[in-house]
Amino acid sequence: MTDTLGHLLAVQDLDTSITQLRHRREALAESSGLATVEAELAALEAERSDAAARRAALAATQKELEEQIGGISERRGSIEQRMYAATSSSARDLQAMSDEVRHLTARRAELEELELVAMLDQDRVDAELAALRQRMEPVEARAGDLRAQVGRDELEIDAELAAAVGSRAAEAALLPAALSDRYEALRSRLKGTGAARLVGTRCDGCHLELSSVEVERIRALPPGEVATCEQCGRLLVPA
Ligand SMILES: [Zn+2]
Repeated sequence: MTDTLGHLLAVQDLDTSITQLRHRREALAESSGLATVEAELAALEAERSDAAARRAALAATQKELEEQIGGISERRGSIEQRMYAATSSSARDLQAMSDEVRHLTARRAELEELELVAMLDQDRVDAELAALRQRMEPVEARAGDLRAQVGRDELEIDAELAAAVGSRAAEAALLPAALSDRYEALRSRLKGTGAARLVGTRCDGCHLELSSVEVERIRALPPGEVATCEQCGRLLVPA
């Protein structure tokens, strides 16, 4: 094997490593289990936010009822004041005022009943929220651990990537421009592999057997001349 072909294979091997490292980095959330835990956390968070919204709606209802109850109490108070202060009111007026007071009292009792229901519902939602927080705690802790682990793995992969990219540039600089261009064109067309080894009678790019005549011809090529696989078209270097 000439030096040039050695550098070509080195470039291919580094390109393969770089691709694998990038895939591994992208898949870290999935492969570490972080993606699953994040999904679990998101589902719990959706439940929590739903409960919080119900809690807020109940509190708003309670507030509105309290305001209505306050208004009724005020109105009843002023009617009662008029009733007790009334020296000149007719019996019919007094009767009307007394009916109104009774009506307001009944209405207030109804609203107080509704307020109680809203308060009890809030207690139930509070219990629901507390239970959800308890369920979320360990999941959050697990997510935190996994995020830290993924962060450490990313740093490790980044260091490997930087080293591989550096070596790749150094090896690629040693290739003749024409060969480098052929390699790049093939690589982008053939799933990242532009150069393959001839192992025995097999191309390790497409994994197909070459005829023995073809293998003979390739092995007899003068140094510096690069063969291509007749099956897949990749640059073929005798191993
Ligand atoms: Zn091939």
